[in-house]
Amino acid sequence: MIPILSLADLEAKIDAFDPIYYAKTRNYIDGGVSYLSPYLSRGIISLSQIVARLKNRGFSLYEVESFVMELCWREHFQRLWQQHDPTLALRQEQQDVLHRQQLPLKIINAQTGIEAIDKGIEDLYQTGYMHNHLRMYTASLVCNHYQVAWEVAAPWLHFHLLDADVASNHFSWQWVCGANANKLYFANQENINKYAKTQQKHTPIDVTYEAISALKLRGEMNSFSFEFSFLKQSEQTLHIDPKLPNCVYTPYNLDPLWHAETKANRILFWDTDFWQAFPVSEKVQNWINALGKHNIEGLQIYYGTLADLQILTKETPTFCKEHPSTKKYPFLLEPRNWLLPDVEVVPVSFFSFWKKVQKHLLKNWKQH
Ligand SMILES: Cc1cc2nc3c(=O)[nH]c(=O)nc-3n(C[C@H](O)[C@H](O)[C@H](O)COP(=O)(O)OP(=O)(O)OC[C@H]3O[C@@H](n4cnc5c(N)ncnc54)[C@H](O)[C@@H]3O)c2cc1C
Repeated sequence: MIPILSLADLEAKIDAFDPIYYAKTRNYIDGGVSYLSPYLSRGIISLSQIVARLKNRGFSLYEVESFVMELCWREHFQRLWQQHDPTLALRQEQQDVLHRQQLPLKIINAQTGIEAIDKGIEDLYQTGYMHNHLRMYTASLVCNHYQVAWEVAAPWLHFHLLDADVASNHFSWQWVCGANANKLYFANQENINKYAKTQQKHTPIDVTYEAISALKLRGEMNSFSFEFSFLKQSEQTLHIDPKLPNCVYTPYNLDPLWHAETKANRILFWDTDFWQAFPVSEKVQNWINALGKHNIEGLQIYYGTLADLQILTKETPTFCKEHPSTKKYPFLLEPRNWLLPDVEVVPVSFFSFWKKVQKHLLKNWKQH
């Protein structure tokens, strides 16, 4: 369902995307969402490249604001990650937690009894994708009703997502359970039925809006301790030409245009220290590797530690892109593209951040 695309195919997909229909339907599970996150999270294309394409199609910012605002969530979370550790609560600790070690088997086995959520989890295992609202429904059920700590649940979803991104994932789980928001997010069965187009009744969450915020499903916990381990792929020997510079790509940066004109050793580096802390499944790894190889000629895949890579690349200059996961790399770190390039203090509130981005975009949109 999520194909391996070249940059040109991706650009064609973006040019065919209808941002107006998106604004009307994006909350529905079968709505006109973009399915861009697997490519965006991998850095194949940047948010500013997408916005530039929308501008070129003649849209005003007002017309595409709903879509651009959603894109901005990614930038906000990436900016927050530059300043805050996403494994720690951003605003306050989650309240009323009963389970700090384990996830309910019902979640892992897609047997919550809520059709839309169970189907969403099954599809996640199959495709590596889940609609934003299903992520929110699932996270709310897990954290706000089953009373599981977000720190236990977030790695489970992250493990299976093609768009696995520690900032978007962990800060979103925190947003749902109140660790990164002033209130908790709730959805009752009626709300889920509306957006998932199901007609289910008499489920544990088939209660009124007044009742849902107090609903604790304590008896639902048949827990299971799940170990997500990062499977280190078989060692590969790098063939490094010592006369050429090195371009180190990561699963967060597979930009095909980056140093495209330079003759270089091109290495997709799976930093095993980082990915052991934030594991993704073998299926996700294979998809990312295939996407990288499809877009970057001569790309070699390397699993190892930073120290190992340094030994192999020490002869010539080594370039890498700035990212929280590459902060400590002793390479020539180059900037990423941003919607808002200069921001010193990142507001914790998304809407304060969005106001800054909106002002900046509006200024440039008018000049266009
Ligand atoms: C619990 C939870 C976990 C999540 N984990 C991840 C994750 O690991 N990786 C990830 O990329 N997104 C994550 N998201 C955000 C969001 O669900 C996905 O980005 C979105 O569903 C991707 O589908 P799409 O590209 O079709 O989205 P669209 O609705 O078409 O949105 C367009 C783009 O806007 C951005 N966007 C929209 N909503 C968000 C958001 N809440 N946070 C960040 N970016 C957003 C994405 O880049 C997305 O591709 C999570 C959300 C929740 C609630």
